[in-house]
Amino acid sequence: MILHIIAEPTMNDSGTAFLNHVLRQLDTAAEILNLDPAIHEVLKKPKRILMVSVPVKMDDNTVRVFMGYRVQHNNARGPYKGGIRYHPNVNMEEVIALAMLMTWKCAVVDLPYGGAKGGVACNPKEMSIHELERLTRRYTSMMFEVVGPLVDIPAPDVYTDSQTMAWIMDTYSQLKGYQVPECVTGKPLSLLGSHGRAEATSRGVAIATRELAKLLNKPLNGARVVIQGFGNVGSYAASILHEWGAKIIAVSDSRGGIVDEKGLNPQALMEHKKKTGTVVGFDGAKQITNEELLELPCDFLIPAALENQITPANADKINAAAIVEGANGPTTPEADKILTERKIIVVPDILANAGGVTVSYLEWVQNLKREQWSLEEVNAKLEQKIVTAFNDVVRYTKQYESNMRTGAMLLAVSRVAEAVKLLGIWP
Ligand code: NAD
Repeated sequence: MILHIIAEPTMNDSGTAFLNHVLRQLDTAAEILNLDPAIHEVLKKPKRILMVSVPVKMDDNTVRVFMGYRVQHNNARGPYKGGIRYHPNVNMEEVIALAMLMTWKCAVVDLPYGGAKGGVACNPKEMSIHELERLTRRYTSMMFEVVGPLVDIPAPDVYTDSQTMAWIMDTYSQLKGYQVPECVTGKPLSLLGSHGRAEATSRGVAIATRELAKLLNKPLNGARVVIQGFGNVGSYAASILHEWGAKIIAVSDSRGGIVDEKGLNPQALMEHKKKTGTVVGFDGAKQITNEELLELPCDFLIPAALENQITPANADKINAAAIVEGANGPTTPEADKILTERKIIVVPDILANAGGVTVSYLEWVQNLKREQWSLEEVNAKLEQKIVTAFNDVVRYTKQYESNMRTGAMLLAVSRVAEAVKLLGIWP
C-alpha cells in the first residue's frame, strides 16, 4: 500500500478575503448597535475549531489524506447547525466565515440554533462513490466527539447531498449503538428526512424574491430572472419561480452560461443537465460567459454558485433591479457599497437562503418527535418563517436607514448578543 501524505492546513487568499468580509459585516453591525465590546470580541471568534486529517483508502489501493474541518462559531441560542462542503478550495478561514454566517442566519429566521460549518478539501468530481463514502464515514468518526443531536447537527452544502447525510447518520448511529436520525438533517425521505427539504433553500429564495417584488410593487409574473449556478439551489429556485410566473432568461454553471430572452424551461433544462452534465448546449439558447451572465439586464439576479462573484470589477456593470443572494457570500463588501450607491437592492444571503436551514430545523423537530409531516405542512411553516424574517429585516432596515444586509445583520447580531449577555461569561 502506498501512503500519500498530502494533508496540510489549507489556507488561501480567497478564504482570508471572505473571512475579512464577514468580520467587517459584524463590525458594522456592532458599531451601529453600540455593542458591548466584550460581546463583540466573543462574536468575532469561533468557539471551537476542529481540524482533522482524514485518511481514505482509494479505489486503486493507495491512501490519500484530506484536510477536514468543523468550525463551531456560537451556540448561545441553541445547538450548532451548519452544512458540510466538499470542494478543492475548502480552507479553514472559509469554513470559519461560513460558520459565522450560519449563526446570523439561524438568528435572522429565529431558529433555536447557533452556527457551525464543516468542510473537506477534496475534489468530489474526481472521486468514486465508494471513495466518497469512505471519506464521509471517516470524517464523521473524527467529528463524533463534538457533534450530536443536541450539540451540533450537520447538513448538506456544496457537493454533498442526502446520500452523504445518510452515511453520516449511519456512521454516527453505528458508533452510538442505536439509530440517531436527529444527528444530521437533509437526509433522504426514506431515512426520516423531511418532505420539502431538497428544494427548501430554493423555495426560501423564491419566497424572498416574491416578497421583494411585493415591496418594490413589481409583479413577479413575467419578471426577468437571471440565475448564476444551476446546482441544488439554482435549479430548484428556477423551477419554483417559473411555476410562479417569472421568466428565467439566463442561467449558468461552472462550464458557462446560456440565455434565451423568451424564457427557459427549468424542468427541460434539468433533464439536459442530467444528461450532459452542464446547462451549456441547451436547445434554442445562446451560449454566454459567466461574466456576461452577471451583466444581463433583468429584474432579479440570483447568484446561486459560490462566494465572491460580485466584486468591484463587475458591480458597476450589474444590470439587475435587485439581487437575491441564493449563494453564501456572493457579494464582496466593496461591491456591496457600489450596489448600494447604485440603489440596487440586495436581499442578503443570511435571509435569502435561510430556507434550507429552516426546513433542516423542521426535519430535526420531526425526528425528535418521531413524526413525519406532510409537504403542505412543512411548506406552510417554511413560508411563515421566511415571510416573518423578511418583514423583520425590512423593519430593521427602515429603522436604521440601512441597506437590507446591514438590516439583517443588526437583527441577527442583536438577537445573538442578547443571548450571550443573558447567559453571561462563565466563570
Ligand atoms: P451545488 O454544488 O449543487 O451547485 C453549485 C452550482 O454552481 C453548480 O451548478 C456549479 O456548476 C455552479 N458553479 C460553480 N462555479 C461557478 C461559476 N464560477 N460560475 C457559475 N456557476 C458556477 O451547490 P448548492 O448546494 O446549490 O449551493 C450553492 C450556493 O448556495 C453555495 O454558496 C452554498 O453555500 C449556498 N447554500 C446552499 C444551501 C443548500 O441547501 N444546498 C443552503 C444555503 C446556502
